[in-house]
Amino acid sequence: MKPEISIVIPAYNEEESLPALFEELYPVMEQMGRPFEIIFINDGSKDKTLGLLYDFYKAHPKEVRVIDLNGNFGQHMAIMAGFDYVLGDKIITLDADLQNPPAEIPKLVAEMDAGHDVVGTYRVGRQDPIFRKVASKIVNKITNKIARLNISDYGCMLRGYDRRIIDIINVSKESTTFIPALGQKFAANPIEIPVAHREREMGESKYGLFQLIRLNFDLMTSFSIIPLQMVTMAGMVVSFLSFILVCYMLLRRLILGPEVEGVFTLMAIQFLLTGIVLFSLGIAGEYMGRIYREVSRRPRYAVRKIFEDENGE
Ligand code: UDP
Ligand code: MG
Repeated sequence: MKPEISIVIPAYNEEESLPALFEELYPVMEQMGRPFEIIFINDGSKDKTLGLLYDFYKAHPKEVRVIDLNGNFGQHMAIMAGFDYVLGDKIITLDADLQNPPAEIPKLVAEMDAGHDVVGTYRVGRQDPIFRKVASKIVNKITNKIARLNISDYGCMLRGYDRRIIDIINVSKESTTFIPALGQKFAANPIEIPVAHREREMGESKYGLFQLIRLNFDLMTSFSIIPLQMVTMAGMVVSFLSFILVCYMLLRRLILGPEVEGVFTLMAIQFLLTGIVLFSLGIAGEYMGRIYREVSRRPRYAVRKIFEDENGE
């Protein structure tokens, strides 16, 4: 039977979380009493993740499918790989670490039944390190401004998408992306609901500080060129101010004669300007990097093997 609801779960070194996840998720799905599938994507895990996923598949071959990727392509590309294979009409993404309880899934499905094509979520009582919560607040604000979106919590991955939205996402072939933002861009009738959030009890976060910064660069440059335009505008402002300064210095020189002091002021100004130039170069470079990645046209992910029951449907 064709599944109606598809759950998409990326997993990277999640051997500690997976047994508890499966134990919680499966009954929730069964209780809804609607045909479903659970698609796991193994994103190049080095631990026992693949073995555990294989066992789930063997235990429930009709509902579980496992896509084993050829390496680590990142959370968002792993979900994209899942999207390419989902069969359901209502697609729900979920993290493997149980930070978002599977018990929230029926709420998302109910919103989709009510006709919403994208069901966003925000975490109430988010249980993450304080620096991440503060950083997220700032990033959410800035990203909404520059990407012209209205998402309260970019980082919450428990989200629901209608088949139509997934079809549009699937033809967006960029090689880095941020799925909640992409979904929101194409949504016609989105809604946001609160969901519970728990601490990561098993395993550890796959995002260190450096990965988080890179992820947010991707998010900001994927959905807007406003950063580039801000650089141009900053350049215009600095040039204008410098022009006034030059005029003033010229007049001063003609009226009061040459000046020798103020060397350190000059250095300070020079350092500031060098900083702005480097920052601008970096922003321009981010976009150049994106263009480079897109023109090299490498596959976004590579599948090693798919475990699914040919007669399962
Ligand atoms: N993940 C992945 N590939 C990666 C990094 C993470 O598939 O390269 C998965 C991970 O297994 C988890 C989800 O993405 O299911 C979210 O990761 P995590 O919980 O570490 O992120 P956080 O909650 O700390 O933002
Ligand atoms: Mg997590």
